[in-house]
Amino acid sequence: MSTSPRVVIIGAGIVGTNLADELTARGITHVTVIDQGPLPVTGGSTSHAPGLVFQVSPSKTMTQFATYTINKLSGLDLDGAWCFKSVGGLEVATTPERLTDLHRRRGWLTSWGVESRIVDADECVRLHPLLDRERVLGGLHTPTDGLANAGRSVVALARRAEAHGARFQGSTRVVGIEQAGGRVTGVRTADGVIPADIVVSCAGFWGPAVGAMVGMDVPLLPLAHQYAKTGQIAELVGRNDEASEIGLPILRNQDADLYFREHLDRIGIGSYGHRPMPVRLDTIDDDDEVTASSMPSMLPFTEDDFSEAWDNCQRLLPALRGAKIEEGFNGVFSFTPDGGPLIGESEDVAGFWIAEAVWVTHSAGVAKAVAQLLVDGRTEYDLHGCDVHRFEDFQRSAGYVEETSAQNFVEIYDVLHPLQPRTSPRNIRVSPFHVRQEELGAVFLENAGWERPQWYEANAPLLAELPPEWTPPERDAWSARFHSPIAAAEAWRTREALALYDMTPLRRFEVSGPGALALLDRLTTGKMDKSVGAVTYTLVLDEAGGVRSDWTVARIGTDRFQVGANGELDLDYLNRQLPSDGTVQVRDIAGGTCCIGVWGPRARELVQPLSDEDFSNAGLRYFRAQRARIGGIPVLAMRLSYVGELGWEIYTSADLGLRLWDVLFAAGQDLGVIAAGRAAFNSLRLEKGYRAWGHDMTTEHNPYEAGLGFAVRAGKGDFVGRAALDGVSADTISRRLSCLTVDDGRSVVLGHEPVFVEERPAGYVTSAAFGHTIGRPIAYAWLPASAVAGTAVEIEYFGRRIPATVVAEPVVDPDMTRIRR
Ligand SMILES: Cc1cc2nc3c(=O)[nH]c(=O)nc-3n(C[C@H](O)[C@H](O)[C@H](O)COP(=O)(O)OP(=O)(O)OC[C@H]3O[C@@H](n4cnc5c(N)ncnc54)[C@H](O)[C@@H]3O)c2cc1C
Repeated sequence: MSTSPRVVIIGAGIVGTNLADELTARGITHVTVIDQGPLPVTGGSTSHAPGLVFQVSPSKTMTQFATYTINKLSGLDLDGAWCFKSVGGLEVATTPERLTDLHRRRGWLTSWGVESRIVDADECVRLHPLLDRERVLGGLHTPTDGLANAGRSVVALARRAEAHGARFQGSTRVVGIEQAGGRVTGVRTADGVIPADIVVSCAGFWGPAVGAMVGMDVPLLPLAHQYAKTGQIAELVGRNDEASEIGLPILRNQDADLYFREHLDRIGIGSYGHRPMPVRLDTIDDDDEVTASSMPSMLPFTEDDFSEAWDNCQRLLPALRGAKIEEGFNGVFSFTPDGGPLIGESEDVAGFWIAEAVWVTHSAGVAKAVAQLLVDGRTEYDLHGCDVHRFEDFQRSAGYVEETSAQNFVEIYDVLHPLQPRTSPRNIRVSPFHVRQEELGAVFLENAGWERPQWYEANAPLLAELPPEWTPPERDAWSARFHSPIAAAEAWRTREALALYDMTPLRRFEVSGPGALALLDRLTTGKMDKSVGAVTYTLVLDEAGGVRSDWTVARIGTDRFQVGANGELDLDYLNRQLPSDGTVQVRDIAGGTCCIGVWGPRARELVQPLSDEDFSNAGLRYFRAQRARIGGIPVLAMRLSYVGELGWEIYTSADLGLRLWDVLFAAGQDLGVIAAGRAAFNSLRLEKGYRAWGHDMTTEHNPYEAGLGFAVRAGKGDFVGRAALDGVSADTISRRLSCLTVDDGRSVVLGHEPVFVEERPAGYVTSAAFGHTIGRPIAYAWLPASAVAGTAVEIEYFGRRIPATVVAEPVVDPDMTRIRR
């Protein structure tokens, strides 16, 4: 931004004050923070947050946010009183399953660069003497975790922001957002309008109400969560003084849905064990006076909901047996459909941003990311799991948000498998082939509302035919969950004969109009001005050269392109980049169309007799598309293959999809056709080294690091991200997405595990699968570029070190002979 914009932040909780601080630190001095409540205790969630900060998360970004929050608040004090106390975090296991899972959680911390250790029961009790030695089996100890004093932090941050020019105004409700010409121009309050170039709503669980002022869906659900304090605990008396307040580690007992902290000589207890208690915004009274024990975000304590939790507390911490719950409340804060925060700018009203559904834990990190976005236009963090625009339209409906967010509350401390699908709502989106898939015994997992076959039970008899070298080894119980050896048979059939894959859930758009070519050319790294029928795999970068997405762009007319993309964020980005002259239209065509991947060495034998078009190697070359009829059905065939076999992605309209499936399936019977699922697909794609955006690479990585330098066209004119890539090449990078194979030939990992080189944590796994063609597990991992092919590494899986080796990629068909035949 050239001149300092006028920024209004709605909400003076931990997120809004952190943002004011981050912005003013970056020289944006014209910042006004408005809150409906009095300052500094506004009555929002921050006003009573107990402030436990655990860094562990399967998400690298969330851990980074937490670590940043810790570092920032550690350097802050309020008149000498601490804002963050590094007492350490202890998660204890009271069941064997939990103890096993703590090893996995430790793996995440190692992957994301946070030190921690697994400790035995004796050490747990040494760290937290109130624990019952007989109940605890072990724990995960993270020494840098600790307690944030959110109330103090808000004051200290506000003071610092004020010293840099920010202004804070309490007891002022924002009742409307002023806008003109599609841009925000200010916020309306009872006292008048405060002009603004940028408005950031940090309104916490009030977010949906503020979002509604600009017609923006804010998919979060306010839920009540119980927090209680005991009376004095004899064992704690004298341990802490007023200044130190606490000394014991913050504690979690996820088996009982509980967490604990000290309050001087009392214990504070948070419980997630109760029924979900959604709170309607219109039932919250924002107008009452805010006091320490009465505020809009505090609802009366419902004792019955706490009784089981209290029993569990006394079992875990016997010292509580003589104590009573002296105070408690049902505190309100935000949950979202996938548990992530909500960050982003309205698509309709430029300059209106939100940063909501954020815990104290992640508050400073989120604020830094938002400040970077506002000031620099990009952030160092990978925000794809935080961007509010990750949700599709159907996912923003009140019913969906309520059901999925409440489920998130219920599962917050559960041991969740990475493939575990939600149980409800299901069957939201099905492809036209669904009925046949059910007939074939498809086992469906869910993604973005789509029912996706993971494997087909109908293929079970193929296991008896599997050649010995294709027979997969037994899996451990964890990697065997949501998996079937049938995937091996499906992979085998794909490599040896023919399989149909339902590719309908692939996100796709039609980009058309006289300006379409120029737009796509500007947004991508590839050459777009090719003949009609050309298909290009290309990258979409951000200004810093990070991989924002990867697209497959088919030129299906002079001014018409079909873009195969990754998700809703691509659509959001495309829409924002449209020229204002109306020369480009973007249409989401995923729902109205469907796609079958017809892949395998016999694919041509299947398709050619069904069509008058030329499907020969010369007639439809690799990475070319053509319209055709197959069994009389009009289709668009693209010669591509994510599984690395001869074949086509065959698209048709949704109404004709079932017919297309039936035609192909019937005609393929003599050729050994099967329907194959995502498990086989994922294995085959990894054997071919095809990256999955969001897993293998994100905006954090440049194309050369991701092994995708080939997609950056040398000598291409300007495009987004180009300048940042000047001087960058495969030779200059310090880290690389690397292919590993597992030495024992059997241990399958699942992703996010740390990788060790010479005994030191050096990276982490992004995607993994058993490579059925090569008879051993494959893992892709971020590693230092010095870890060249042949380097011995170890992957840590539930605390066990699995030897693996960096290998040249792809491990199957590096010369592309199978695909180009
Ligand atoms: C019982 C309980 C325990 C928790 N424990 C922890 C924990 O241990 N660790 C952790 O990390 N997190 C914890 N949380 C979550 C955490 O408290 C919240 O996620 C966090 O405080 C949210 O901060 P915020 O700034 O987004 O929201 P808030 O603090 O709610 O601030 C939003 C502000 O916006 C203002 N506002 C809303 N609408 C308007 C309007 N129209 N005009 C003007 N102002 C408006 C409100 O008055 C409010 O002050 C807990 C939450 C609860 C309820």
